[in-house]
Amino acid sequence: MGDSEAAESSLLTRLGWSAARQTELDALGDGALMPARVVVEHRGAYGLAGCAVASARPAGRLRDAGERWPAVGDWVAVAPTGKNVSGGGVIQHVLERTSLLERKRPGAVRAQAVAANVDVVFVVTTAEKAPNLRRVERTLAIVAASGARAVVVLNKIDLARDPEGDLAALASVSGAAPCLATSAATAQGLEALRARLPSGATGALIGPSGTGKSSLINALLGGDRQATGAVRLGDAKGRHTTTRRELLELPGGACLIDTPGMRELGLWEAGEGIDRTFAELTELAGACRFRDCQHQGEPGCAVAAALANGTIDADRVASFAKLRREDAFVERQQDPRSAAANKGRWKTIHKQQRARRLVDPKLSDD
Ligand code: GDP
Ligand code: ZN
Repeated sequence: MGDSEAAESSLLTRLGWSAARQTELDALGDGALMPARVVVEHRGAYGLAGCAVASARPAGRLRDAGERWPAVGDWVAVAPTGKNVSGGGVIQHVLERTSLLERKRPGAVRAQAVAANVDVVFVVTTAEKAPNLRRVERTLAIVAASGARAVVVLNKIDLARDPEGDLAALASVSGAAPCLATSAATAQGLEALRARLPSGATGALIGPSGTGKSSLINALLGGDRQATGAVRLGDAKGRHTTTRRELLELPGGACLIDTPGMRELGLWEAGEGIDRTFAELTELAGACRFRDCQHQGEPGCAVAAALANGTIDADRVASFAKLRREDAFVERQQDPRSAAANKGRWKTIHKQQRARRLVDPKLSDD
């Protein structure tokens, strides 16, 4: 391996390239294909990292049903268009995803991929005011459905009115997700945040505007993100535009994905995520006399009994019911085939998780 090849391969490792991905690429059986990670998409052109080809367009075939269309964070197999790699390339395959964050577009039947292969999502809240626990639960459900792990972040801890109270409230709804207190202003807690992003890992931040996501990203980058590089992309007519990369490399060798869509993620196919986020309520509902109990005053309702004796919180039950209703609505709008495909995917993931828990009952998502 030459020096530049060796440098390229350690860059691939920092970007999250793995033995499993190498195996998948090898199985494609085409030596001309190069691995690369998508760092930005702009008007149908994709900026790439880890590869000599800096920009590429997807092969038309990837629009077919059953194929994956590339998104920021994806690992792709690229073929150069001509002899000269600066001429760009064609994305021939999108490799298996370990996670996928999707956004529901109003009125659209299909979800839009927002980011792929994110390992950990930081759910950012601010300590300036009491945390909106319902919103945190909702976001945790979306993250759980994506296949990524969640970490709850209470930022602006330097401005906190009631740091212990807020952290306790967040911990009461966060399940297996750890809760961290940070300040982008004083750097408190940033080491704990970095510890969640080892070399090769990919993180993303979700949360309302003004909670300090950009400030945290800049702090993790150790400077201004403007410095971390623009990408030049060629369009189909050979014109070039410069755009901001959305997958950023951190000094410690991890990556962060920051896309506008990430910040406004809606609820989409979060069903299984909702059940896991509200695990104690899902379990309780299993003790209701009727299997299809709606917990609306039916006889033998375990949820009503727990509400009556104060062991569960009425706001949390209402939030659970609301998310379930929204999710059912989304599912009805979706086309049956992709809904069925999603169910299949979740069955497999859950079987694996159950199997893992049986091996080690203490195993948590953390
Ligand atoms: P975003 O919309 O979530 O990206 O939030 P920004 O990063 O733009 O931050 C919003 C405002 O809060 C800015 O004025 C920041 O300087 C400020 N800010 C962000 N994090 C902190 C923090 O930890 N402490 C304090 N005191 N201010 C912060
Ligand atoms: Zn019930």
